Amino acid sequence: MHREVVIVGSGPAGLTAAIYAARAELHPLVIHGPQPGGQLTITTEVENYPGFAKGIQGPELMQQFEDQAKRFGTEFLVTFVNKVDLSRRPFTVWTEDGHEIKAETLIVASGASAKWLGIPGEAPAPHGLGGLGVSACATCDGFFFKGKPIIVVGGGDTAMEEATFLTRYASRVTVVHRRDQLRASKIMQDKAFKNPKIDFIWNTDVREILGSPETGVTGVRLYDNKTEEETEFPCEGVFVAIGHKPNTDVFKGWLDMDEVGYIKTAGVSMATNIPGVFACGDAQDSFYRQAVTAAGTGCMAAIDAERWLDSLPVPVATGEEVTIEGEVITPDHKKIIMPDGEVIQNKPDGAGDADSGKQAEVVYARHETELPS
Ligand code: NDP
Repeated sequence: MHREVVIVGSGPAGLTAAIYAARAELHPLVIHGPQPGGQLTITTEVENYPGFAKGIQGPELMQQFEDQAKRFGTEFLVTFVNKVDLSRRPFTVWTEDGHEIKAETLIVASGASAKWLGIPGEAPAPHGLGGLGVSACATCDGFFFKGKPIIVVGGGDTAMEEATFLTRYASRVTVVHRRDQLRASKIMQDKAFKNPKIDFIWNTDVREILGSPETGVTGVRLYDNKTEEETEFPCEGVFVAIGHKPNTDVFKGWLDMDEVGYIKTAGVSMATNIPGVFACGDAQDSFYRQAVTAAGTGCMAAIDAERWLDSLPVPVATGEEVTIEGEVITPDHKKIIMPDGEVIQNKPDGAGDADSGKQAEVVYARHETELPS
C-alpha cells in the first residue's frame, strides 16, 4: 500500500484531517484500533460540540465524523500500528496484522488516554459506572452534577483545576489524594485551598466506586493508607484526575516529545521535527484536550499536508519553512537553502533578480508523487 496521506487515529482530530484530505483528493488512509472514534465513544452526552444545539451522544457524533470522511473516499484499516520508519520518504508504517504501508505524509492523531485507577465500578457502563457518574473530564461532564456532592481523585494541576471548575456546579467537591502533599503548582493549590466549596481527604486511596446502573454513583469506598481504615463516603460523582497518557509510544525516538510523550509541533503549523509528519489532537495537546480543538488541529494538519504535497513551504518549529523537495526558507524569508547547500535569494517572482525565476520554480512547482495505480 502506498498513500499520499496516512492518518493514524480516528478521533475528532484524525477524522477531521481525513475529511479535509479526502476533499482535497489525497485519498487518505485512516488506521485505527478496534475502538474507532477515540475518547468520545466512551462518553455519553456531548453538549459543547458546536453545531448540535440540543447536544449529541458521543458515539453518534463520531459516527457522523466517520460517515463524512467516508463520503469523500477515506479508506479505513482496523489494526494497530506497531512500528514506523520515518528516516526517509515515503515513510513506512507497519501494522499488527502484517500490512506494510508507504506514506508520503503521515498525520499522527493517535490521541491520549485518561489514566484510570483500575478499581471496581470505574469501567464504562454497562460494565461499571463510567458515564453514569464516573468521568475523567470536568469540562465535558461537570454540567450534569448541578447541586450534587462529588469527589475528585488526584493531587496534580489537573485535579486542582477540575475541582475548582466543578465548584460551579457541585454542592461540594472533595479532593481525595493518596499522599499528604499535593503535586500541583502553588498557584493552583492556593486557589483550591481558598475555595470554600472544596475539602480535602489526605493519605487516602479510592478502592471502589459504589452504585448501580439505576441509581448511578452513590458513594466510594475509601482506604486510609496511614490508619489502614476503610470507610464509605457518599457522593454522586467521581472525577478521576490522575493524568493522561498520549498514545505515542510507537513514534518515540522519531518524533520530538515532552517528557510525558506529547508530540511537539511547530506552533505556527502542525509540523513535527520530521518534515512531512504532522501531529494533531490530544497526541500533541496536553492543555485544551477538547473534541473541537482536536478537530481544529486535525484540519490544520491536513492543510499542512496538502501544502507540503503541493511543494509549498510549511513552517517548522525553528521558524524556518521547508518544502517537500528539501529547500529551507530562512525565518526572515530572505534566503532559500537548497538541498545541496546552495543559498539563493528568496525574492518575489519578477523582481529582476537573476535567481528569481529559479526561486519561483522551487517554491511553487507541483510535486509529482509516483503512486501505483
Ligand atoms: P500529574 O502527573 O502532575 O499528577 C497526577 C496526580 O495524580 C498526582 O498527584 C498523583 O499522585 C496522582 N495519581 C497518579 N496515579 C495515581 C493513582 N493510581 N492513584 C491515585 N492517585 C494517583 O498529572 P496532571 O494531569 O495533574 O498534570 C499533567 C501535566 O499537565 C503537569 O505538568 C501539569 O502541570 C500540567 N497541567 C497544567 C495545568 C495548568 O497549568 N492550568 C492544568 C492541568 C495540567 P502523587 O502526587 O502521589 O504522585
